[in-house]
Amino acid sequence: MIPRIINRLNQIEDWEYLLPAKEREELERVERIFPFRSNEYYLSLINWEDREDPIRRIVIPNPNELELSGRLDPSSEKSYTRLPGLQHKYHQTTLILFSDVCAGICRFCFRKRLFLLNEREVAVDLDACLAYIRAHPEITDVLLSGGDPLMLPTPALEHAIGRIREIEHVRIIRIGSKVPAYYPQRILEDPELLDLIQRYSTAEGRIYVMTQFNHPRELTSVAKKAIDEL
Ligand code: SF4
Repeated sequence: MIPRIINRLNQIEDWEYLLPAKEREELERVERIFPFRSNEYYLSLINWEDREDPIRRIVIPNPNELELSGRLDPSSEKSYTRLPGLQHKYHQTTLILFSDVCAGICRFCFRKRLFLLNEREVAVDLDACLAYIRAHPEITDVLLSGGDPLMLPTPALEHAIGRIREIEHVRIIRIGSKVPAYYPQRILEDPELLDLIQRYSTAEGRIYVMTQFNHPRELTSVAKKAIDEL
């Protein structure tokens, strides 16, 4: 069953009982700057009795985020950006910021700037990205990232993957995704997604899903099943 998406802290069931009012207000202040997103499934993994619960720390805002002394682009990605949404840092690899939506927003994300409203960085012109890759025969590996590419509708993903596959020198397509941990139902309830991966991942050119699990408690039976299906 698809879990309900939750975009605001005060939409969390029993929010007003889970934490003291002062703490809730503080977190809602953080949320106004760095947005929050999750869903009922992932939030059900939190032990609210434990203030330092690791799942809570992954996804629930923290007042320390308001300490704004760092940089919004800590990896200097701007300096590797060749086109809007396309980065070319390593010789054989290009990275496309394919989406600025995630199934949950990790509080530690080093691309938090994508979730702020002032600037969109995603690749809006797929043709231009493909032309860049075609013009660079050294690129054998295309990493679709974001945001989370698996949050896009499957036909949009298929359109892009199909066109990347037409470029002969690209061997590997990687999809960076935390959907298997945050929202495994997205994988299990969409046979077309699995079919797409099966069709486009061949002996000559593999698709790899690069996922991140940050805590063993994220490895639920549903998550394991989604990984098995992939
Ligand atoms: S899933 Fe990845 S891109 Fe999305 S918030 Fe987490 S670390 Fe950032």
